[in-house]
Amino acid sequence: MILPWQQATWRRLVDGLPTLHHALLLAGPAGQGKRQFAEAAAARLLCEAPGVRDFACGKCEACQWVQADSHPDLLRLVPDLDGDTGEDPEGKDGGKAKSAQIRIEQVRALTPILTVTAHRGGRRVVIVDPAEAMNPFTANALLKLLEEPPAGVVFLLVSARPMRLLPTLRSRCQRWDFPMPSAEAVAGWLRDSHPGTPQELVDLVGGAPLAAADLSGRGGQGLRSRLVADLTARPGVDPVRLAGQWEAWLRGKEAQAAGLDLAMLVGWVQRWVTDLAALRLGGIPRYFPDQGRALAAIAGTMTVADALACYNDFIALRRVSQHPLNSRLMMEDMLIRYCRAVGGGGP
Ligand SMILES: [Zn+2]
Repeated sequence: MILPWQQATWRRLVDGLPTLHHALLLAGPAGQGKRQFAEAAAARLLCEAPGVRDFACGKCEACQWVQADSHPDLLRLVPDLDGDTGEDPEGKDGGKAKSAQIRIEQVRALTPILTVTAHRGGRRVVIVDPAEAMNPFTANALLKLLEEPPAGVVFLLVSARPMRLLPTLRSRCQRWDFPMPSAEAVAGWLRDSHPGTPQELVDLVGGAPLAAADLSGRGGQGLRSRLVADLTARPGVDPVRLAGQWEAWLRGKEAQAAGLDLAMLVGWVQRWVTDLAALRLGGIPRYFPDQGRALAAIAGTMTVADALACYNDFIALRRVSQHPLNSRLMMEDMLIRYCRAVGGGGP
């Protein structure tokens, strides 16, 4: 099933089926349903008796196989969580799953499968999700397949960070943009499908409806509250002590249930810092708008230069947070920078 804000894109798919490009890059911010669209599109492409409303019928043999995740002509390239990527020297701090990549062997294994005829004699679909999980070697292997596409194969590449893909790979794909839905569309969908999702979480994830609903269902509101409490508790915060507390926090049940790991936590603090910088520059908070007063009080202690330096620090921290050499040191570094910028402590 597609989401309400995807109807025009769905129409484009269905109307364009006779001449559909063999590689679509579904690009747009995370948490708004690109994956669902790719799955619905794959089901539609493989369905042998499409319904009058242009969706997969859900009843034919092909649809039943898709639903059972056993259709031989639906192939997936997704990060191999069990494979040793050699990318995560820590490997124990919860960041492993996210650092996992799509391995080149997975792409190589596709080639012989795609060179024989489709099992059902129709189309075949390869979903690559997320496409940015391919390193350059893997992407080059896939590129060879895209350059000489086997007949009837449609590649659906899903990416929240399309600029991280090899330009050569991007150029072989037809890009379909998935912009973030409007606040009204998000509110309406959440009200109907996930009532009780707090607006605070919608704001925290930048307006991404699926991400907000998911986070809400996993107890994200409590985690957000704690984060806000800790970040507004200064002055007097000891960044090293807080880093120790947060390390234990990330290992705790609540954080694990919500999938809150170091990279995600750094992302949340970065958004807090982004709001501080925005306020300091005369703007309005985007990620924590309900905390406007607390943010303004903190921003008032910062110089514009401090606010911008802290903002830039966090962009750099965010970049390395997926693969920290030492997660405790990184957490300390992050909090020392934050506390120094807001004048609340640190050496
Ligand atoms: Zn069907």
